[in-house]
Amino acid sequence: SAPLLSLNEVTRTYTSRKGLFGTPVAVQAVAGVSLEVRPGETLGIVGESGSGKSTMGRMALGLEAPDSGSVRFDGAAMPDPGSESWRSLRKRAQMVFQDPLGALDRRLPVADQIGEPLEIHGIGDKAARAAAIARSLEMTGLSADHGRRFPHELSGGQRQRVIIARALITDPELLVCDEPVSALDVSIQAQVVNLLIDLQAERGLAMIFISHDLRVVRQISQRVAVMYLGHIVEEGTAEEVLRDPQHPYTRALVSAAPVPGARQRQRVILTGEPPNPAARPSGCAFHPRCPLATDRCRAEMPVLTRLAPGRRAACHLIQHTPAGMAAK
Ligand code: SF4
Ligand code: MG
Repeated sequence: SAPLLSLNEVTRTYTSRKGLFGTPVAVQAVAGVSLEVRPGETLGIVGESGSGKSTMGRMALGLEAPDSGSVRFDGAAMPDPGSESWRSLRKRAQMVFQDPLGALDRRLPVADQIGEPLEIHGIGDKAARAAAIARSLEMTGLSADHGRRFPHELSGGQRQRVIIARALITDPELLVCDEPVSALDVSIQAQVVNLLIDLQAERGLAMIFISHDLRVVRQISQRVAVMYLGHIVEEGTAEEVLRDPQHPYTRALVSAAPVPGARQRQRVILTGEPPNPAARPSGCAFHPRCPLATDRCRAEMPVLTRLAPGRRAACHLIQHTPAGMAAK
């Protein structure tokens, strides 16, 4: 099927200052990335902090425009952030953030906040909104009593359910979840992830699930893109990427969070500094941490290469034949 969302060669650069009076430096958060999300599928974007994955999520919703490249939603160019057509598109594409407390107003009962998007978009009368709020509460495993409470009277997991209920009340086609369970206890994480899996299946939602945690991404995603310093270094089905990772960085992530039944490969242990977008290494940006790095890796940036349909990786050591199959 045609993609619901596509990002084509998107680049996003921020200006940051070193120190209070320091000279401004350009920091490239995302560098020429292309990705697609089809209706009803979940794409996991995994990477460490500074990999550019949150910036990808914001560009996917048009909250930020790329400096170059394009974002298309349902076949049309993403409107400018804040424009009238962008506001009307927001009911079709919603966001779930990491920090539910920060995203909620402490002075309002949560049911009112769940209904806010309906007011913003002028959907339904008072009675229809009340019915939609009740349905959203129920759908996310909350009661009418929860709805009458204030954010601080709910647990972290319940607050995240409120955020999900609010994001889904306009019946969007795309949900972007940026580290939605990272702030929660592990036992609660599983409940919220299972809720998202159920809602995604019931409603045929497309989802971008952004996380630094490969274990969580694995549970929920059909496809996975691994990001490192603004680039995709590997992409494929969750099954392929996690059972047979090709890129040394993905192998390191998988080694740190082993997948049951995964191919036994050389273990790659991550060493060195976490990635810093303000000091991008030459050549392959992963080379200071890569146990397999050669002189070529320090000089030349590997190109993201198609290995098989839907399967891409960027590493000089990955051999591929013209037929496009990975040679082992
Ligand atoms: Fe490691 Fe070189 Fe591959 Fe980069 S290109 S991941 S440094 S082997
Ligand atoms: Mg982030």
